[in-house]
Amino acid sequence: VPTKPNIPADLLSPDILALNPYVVLPAEGSIKLDAMENPWPWPGQLEAEWLESLRGIELNRYPDPEARELAAALRQWLHLPDDLGLLLGNGSDELLQIILMAVAGSGRPVLTPGPTFVMYRMISKWLGLNCIEVPLTADFDLDQAAMLAAIKAEQPAVVFLAWPNNPTGKAWPREAIIDIVENTSGLVVVDEAYSAFADDSVIDLLGRYPNLLLLRTFSKIGLAGLRLGYLAGPRLWLTELNKLRMPYNVGQLTQVSAQLALRHDGLLAAQATRLRNERRQILLVLEALEGVSPIPSNANFILFRLTAENADDEPVASRIHAELRAEGLLIKNLHGSHPALENCLRVTVGSPRENRKFLAALKRLL
Ligand SMILES: *Cc1c(COP(=O)(O)O)cnc(C)c1O
Repeated sequence: VPTKPNIPADLLSPDILALNPYVVLPAEGSIKLDAMENPWPWPGQLEAEWLESLRGIELNRYPDPEARELAAALRQWLHLPDDLGLLLGNGSDELLQIILMAVAGSGRPVLTPGPTFVMYRMISKWLGLNCIEVPLTADFDLDQAAMLAAIKAEQPAVVFLAWPNNPTGKAWPREAIIDIVENTSGLVVVDEAYSAFADDSVIDLLGRYPNLLLLRTFSKIGLAGLRLGYLAGPRLWLTELNKLRMPYNVGQLTQVSAQLALRHDGLLAAQATRLRNERRQILLVLEALEGVSPIPSNANFILFRLTAENADDEPVASRIHAELRAEGLLIKNLHGSHPALENCLRVTVGSPRENRKFLAALKRLL
């Protein structure tokens, strides 16, 4: 009998061996409402302009390592003052990784409220960092007293605040965010992946605090395929973080495509407005459904809990998720991912037609 090969135990930490990979379910042929993508491709005229803009790219050459044209366009688009730095990443996930690599040697932990975006914890684990979670309240609000007490006791190197939060969609009060920034000696990264769908931002506070960084992404506004995120904040920090960036981390196709998107930002803004309107419609329908308890959202998704009795062998959320999937509707099952998310499902706001199909199927299956 051949022995099963093992990775020598002194080569990989137990933390790595115990990790579950980030799983993305295959979506071929499904209506895809699981990953907060924008449902609309670019219209024909813009697509033609995009293809034209790609024509001049020399694929045999490395991209501009500093992505200077894109960075300049983005700075202008953000009205970012000269004394603030801007760092571009291969998605905002890469920037999270850079931030965590930078502090990995500090011996200090990472702190987040929870449940929240899973990559904060995952990347921390990759790097051997302790990620402390301060539970949100039962309504998924910040427990501000517990947050401040934990920050004081643990002296985290970084606090991550997804604002609005994923997977709950809640945007906590601005005062609470400021309170945390003022009471943290480490970095506070406000992750505004959903800013296009929210009413508030900390962008006006940048530069006022030496420890406040703003993280955003192009993924949720309609350009998930590009992989582009950005981090803005005091140059003092961004100069150091930039040293941990892979050379050429933003490809030339991304650099050129994102510049075109910024020139057509009106289209993206109009799409975000349509999605916010759709979000309101979906919420109204979910609120009226027996056995469904949705959380009002400031993002392009809605978290909802199913309150019906579980069957003996299967939680109701897992049953509904599987039955929706069998009908070609892919949403996200969060049951089992966190104790506070029992029987919770998360649906991305799609096009009106997709949303109607989802709501009709859910009504029927409940
Ligand atoms: C989706 C998401 C990200 C990651 O975005 P990418 O730019 O696609 O890597 C980061 N933070 C939060 C809170 C998210 O929901």
